[in-house]
Amino acid sequence: MRDEEIVAAARAIRAELPELWVGDGAARAAEVDALLRCAANGQRVGDRILALLTSDSATRRELRRRLPREEDTYRQAPPLGSYSALAGHGDPSKGVVYRCSVCDYSYPLFEVGEPVPEGCPDGHGPLVRVV
Ligand SMILES: [Zn+2]
Repeated sequence: MRDEEIVAAARAIRAELPELWVGDGAARAAEVDALLRCAANGQRVGDRILALLTSDSATRRELRRRLPREEDTYRQAPPLGSYSALAGHGDPSKGVVYRCSVCDYSYPLFEVGEPVPEGCPDGHGPLVRVV
C-alpha cells in the first residue's frame, strides 16, 4: 500500500460518510483533518492515517473497501455484499496489529495472510504482534 492510496481513501471516507465523524468519531475527524493537511503539504502520514482509521471498526471497514488490494482484486472482483457476508463469521484478522518495540511504528493487518514487514522501517528490529 502506498501513502497516496491511504491518503486518498481517507479523504474519500471523510468526504462521503459524514455519519462516521460525529459523536465518538468527532475527535477522529479532527485528527484525520490534521493528517490530511500534513499530507497535502507533502508529508508522509499514511501510516498514521492507517493507524487512526483502523482504530475504529466503521472507518476500518470503509478503509479496507477502498484501498487497493493484492493483485487478486483485478482478477476476481468480489460480488457486492461479500464483506457483509463475511462479517457474520467474524473477521479473523480483526484488530491484529504489529508494532515496533522501540518506536511507535505499527502495522495493522487488513486480512489473513497479508505479509507483515520483517521489521521496523527505522531499523529497530522485528515487529511484535500486540493485538
Ligand atoms: Zn521502530
